[in-house]
Amino acid sequence: MPEETMQFQAEVSKLLKIVANSLYSQKEIFLRELISNGSDACDRLRYEALTKPDLLGGDGDFRVTLSVDPKAKTLTVSDNGIGMTRDELIDNLGTIARSGSAQAVEAMSGDETDVSLIGQFGVGFYSAFIVSDKVDVISRRADADEAWRWTSSGEGDFAVAEADRETRGTSVIVHLKKAEKEFLDPERLGTIVKTYSDHIGLPVVLESAIEGEDPKILNEASALWTRRPKDITKDQYKEFYHHTAHVYDDPWATIHAKAEGRIEYSMLLYIPGVRPLDLFQPDRRARVRLYVRRVFISDEAEALLPSYLRFVRGVVDTEDLPLNVSRELLQDSPILAKIGSAVVKRVLRELEKRADKKPEEFEEFWANFGAVLKEGIYEDPARRDQLLKISRFQSTNGSGLTSLADYVGRMKDGQDKIHYIAGEDTEKLMASPHLEGFMARDIEVLLLPDAIDEFWVPTIGEFEGKKFVSVTQGEADFVPLGEDEKDADKDADDDKPAEGELSTLVALLKQQLGDQVKDVRTTDRLRESPVCLVAGDSDLDRHLARMLKQAGQLEKPPANGILEINPRHALIKVLAAGAGKPGASETMSDAAQLLLDQARIIEGELPKDPAAFSRRMADVMAAALSK
Ligand code: ADP
Ligand code: MG
Repeated sequence: MPEETMQFQAEVSKLLKIVANSLYSQKEIFLRELISNGSDACDRLRYEALTKPDLLGGDGDFRVTLSVDPKAKTLTVSDNGIGMTRDELIDNLGTIARSGSAQAVEAMSGDETDVSLIGQFGVGFYSAFIVSDKVDVISRRADADEAWRWTSSGEGDFAVAEADRETRGTSVIVHLKKAEKEFLDPERLGTIVKTYSDHIGLPVVLESAIEGEDPKILNEASALWTRRPKDITKDQYKEFYHHTAHVYDDPWATIHAKAEGRIEYSMLLYIPGVRPLDLFQPDRRARVRLYVRRVFISDEAEALLPSYLRFVRGVVDTEDLPLNVSRELLQDSPILAKIGSAVVKRVLRELEKRADKKPEEFEEFWANFGAVLKEGIYEDPARRDQLLKISRFQSTNGSGLTSLADYVGRMKDGQDKIHYIAGEDTEKLMASPHLEGFMARDIEVLLLPDAIDEFWVPTIGEFEGKKFVSVTQGEADFVPLGEDEKDADKDADDDKPAEGELSTLVALLKQQLGDQVKDVRTTDRLRESPVCLVAGDSDLDRHLARMLKQAGQLEKPPANGILEINPRHALIKVLAAGAGKPGASETMSDAAQLLLDQARIIEGELPKDPAAFSRRMADVMAAALSK
C-alpha cells in the first residue's frame, strides 16, 4: 500500500498549536507522556495475554526503552507492548478520543488561561511536538504480521505507510529541534525519568550510545502502591496521580492503604483538586483501575466504586482474584464487592475526617464534587446517614456552607420544618421572590442548586424528624411568630387592602385567568414582589417539573401553578381598590395577564405569548405616562 496522507481532526490541529505555544516551559513532560503510553501498551498486552498467551511469543519481559542517536538528533521511546494496527494509528494519533477532551479543546481560544485547562487533561502523545519538528511512530500489533509507520511534523496532516519492524510494540522516534539537544544527554534523561516516571511498574531502560556498554535501568520499576508509604515522597505520589488519573493538578487527598485480612488488597486512591472533564458524562462510570497481582485488569470495574464516587482516581490491587478473571465476571464477583465496600468506607472516612477537622479544605472539595456525592444520598440507602452527615449546603444564612445538623440547630423556636428552594444556581435562587417573607422573618432557607437535589430531598423526606418543604410549594408555612418577633417584623401588618376588596380582586383575577392557573390567592410569602407562582401541595415542585419537561420525561404537561399576590404591594393595592368599581373586569383583563407573565418571568420562563406581553406592557405604560 503506498503512503497515504491524512488530515488531523480539527481539534487536534488546534491542540497541537496550543501545546507548542503554551507548554514550552515544561517541555520535558513529553517524555513522561511517551513513557506512560508505552507502559499502558504493556499493561494492555499483559492483560490480553492472560487469555491468549501466544501473543507474548516468548517475550514476557515488558519494558520501555529509550535510545538516542546524537548524529540524527533523535530520541526514541520504544515498548514491547500491544502495538497498533494501521487503523489504530490513524484513530489514536489523528483524533482526540478521551471523553470530554475534544469538547474542551473546541472551547479553548488559545490564550494564557488555556494552559491550566490543558493541564487538566494532559496532552498525551501530542506533547512530543513541543520539542520536535517531526515524529515517526513505527508500530506492530502483537497479533499482526505487518508493521506501520505514522509520520507527522505536527502541522495539519500526517502520513501512514507500511514499515518494517521485527517484533511487536511501538517505537516513537522524536526528531529533536536544534535547540533541544539536551534530550540527547543520558544524564538529563535519567533525571527526567526519575522525576516523572519513577513509579512506573516496569523498567524504563536507557540504551547506551556507546557500543558494548550495558543498558541502564533509570527507574525504581516497582509499582508505587506496593512500596511502603514511608518510602514514597509527596512528589512521587503526585506523579503517579498524574499518570493514572490523567489530571494534572495537586490531588486534594491521597489515600494509600493495605489490607491483610481474609482478603488481601492495597489501594492508592486520589481525590482530585479539580473537576475531571468527564465527571458528568452520561455513563457516570467510576474510573479506579483494578489490578490483580500487579497485572492491570480493568478501569471499568463497576463493582469497585459506586458512581457517586466517580471522581475518585487511582488503583486497587488484590491478591485474591484469579488472574484470568474476565471483565464480565468482575461484575458479579463477591470478592470484588467486598473490596469495593471497604474502599468506599475508607474514602468516606477520609471525607468525614476532613469535613470535621478541616472545614475550609472540605469546602473546596464540596465545590468540586458535592453535586456528585449527593447522588449517593438518593442511590445508596445503606450509607445515606453517613453521606447526609458530610453534605454541605448554601443557605440564606449567607455565611459559608452549612450542614443539615447545623441548620437544624439554628432553627427558630417553634420551627419544625426544613425550608429549601431548588433551582439552577444559588445567585438566582437568592433573588427569588419566594424567599422574601422568610428573609423578613429571619427564617433560614437552604439553597439547592443541583439537579440531584430534586431527587434526594423527596426520597428522604425528612432529617432528624424535620420535614423538608419547598418554599415554592403549598401555602407559605411560617413559624408562628412570638409577640416580640411580630414587632420586629415591622411591615407585617401595615395597611393591607380591606379583606372585601382583596377577595373581589382574587375573584376577578381567577375569572380572567381561567384555567391558566390552578388558583389565585393572597400570600404572606412576598415582601417586595407583587406576585409569584407556587405549586399545589400535591403537585410536583415547579423547578422539578421544568427539569423533567426539558429532559422529555413528563408524561403529561405539569399542573398549572397557583398565582399568589402580595397584598402589601402598591400595585396590588391599586388593583384591589379598583376591583369593586363598575367596569373593573375590562381593565382587569390586561392586568391579570401581565401579573401572570411577570410571575413566569421571575421563574426564568417566557411569557406565554411574548408579543402579547409586550403589547400589553406598552399599552399600560403609555396609559400611565400620559396621565
Ligand atoms: P492517552 O494515553 O491519554 O489515551 P495519548 O495522546 O497519550 O492519550 O495517546 C492516545 C492513544 O494512542 C492511546 O490511548 C493509545 O490508544 C494510543 N497509543 C499511544 N502510544 C501508544 C503506544 N506506545 N502503544 C500503543 N498505543 C499507543
Ligand atoms: Mg497517554
